[in-house]
Amino acid sequence: MSSIEIARTPFLIVVSGPSGAGKSTVVDRILERSPHLVASVSVTTRPPRGDERDGVDYFFVERDGFERRREAGAFLEWAEVHGNLYGTPAAFVSRMLEEGMNVILEIDVQGGMLVRDSRPEAVLIFIMPPGFETLRERLRGRGTDDEEVIKRRLENARREISSYGSYDYIVVNDELERCADDCLAIIRAEALRRERTSVQGRRRAAGEF
Ligand code: 5GP
Repeated sequence: MSSIEIARTPFLIVVSGPSGAGKSTVVDRILERSPHLVASVSVTTRPPRGDERDGVDYFFVERDGFERRREAGAFLEWAEVHGNLYGTPAAFVSRMLEEGMNVILEIDVQGGMLVRDSRPEAVLIFIMPPGFETLRERLRGRGTDDEEVIKRRLENARREISSYGSYDYIVVNDELERCADDCLAIIRAEALRRERTSVQGRRRAAGEF
């Protein structure tokens, strides 16, 4: 008798999309529903918003602290977004992959393109808002940013949306549950790809079963 053993290589999942597309909510929903996924917590120079917590939503640092980490090569990728610096901690991501977890990076399109180039095995998902009106309403509804910031974010959103062509998958977030379902379907199918799978047949002694 022989048994077949399947090993899967864990991978990175990049989730991008404009501010107000609902990325964070979608990612939270995906994490709740999949035990083999973990989200990377980014380092940022942006001050905390609302009830955001240090070490949970972001690691909040001063600009010089960010630059020191960057010079030391601590980031898998980093980018300046809306005047603030954001970076993905490389050590955390490597550790999680080594432990067999797939890692979600919720990052902007500049960071997405850097990951695509440096880690070609990564899966890139673009979360598309259903329309600009929805985007504006969601940014206003957040109630944490003033009109000037919202205007800047909307301009940025138009630029971000024009980058969707570089992503592997485009998922429209018109309904949270469906959007999270679509993302999970993508991640499940990607995990089963032949390139991420090694199959080993092991012969067992007759009579073992
Ligand atoms: P927010 O300030 O609204 O939390 O995030 C602003 C933008 O920065 C979002 O598009 C978010 O996905 C992106 N972002 C968050 N963390 C990172 C990161 O580590 N790297 C990059 N490149 N972008 C990030």
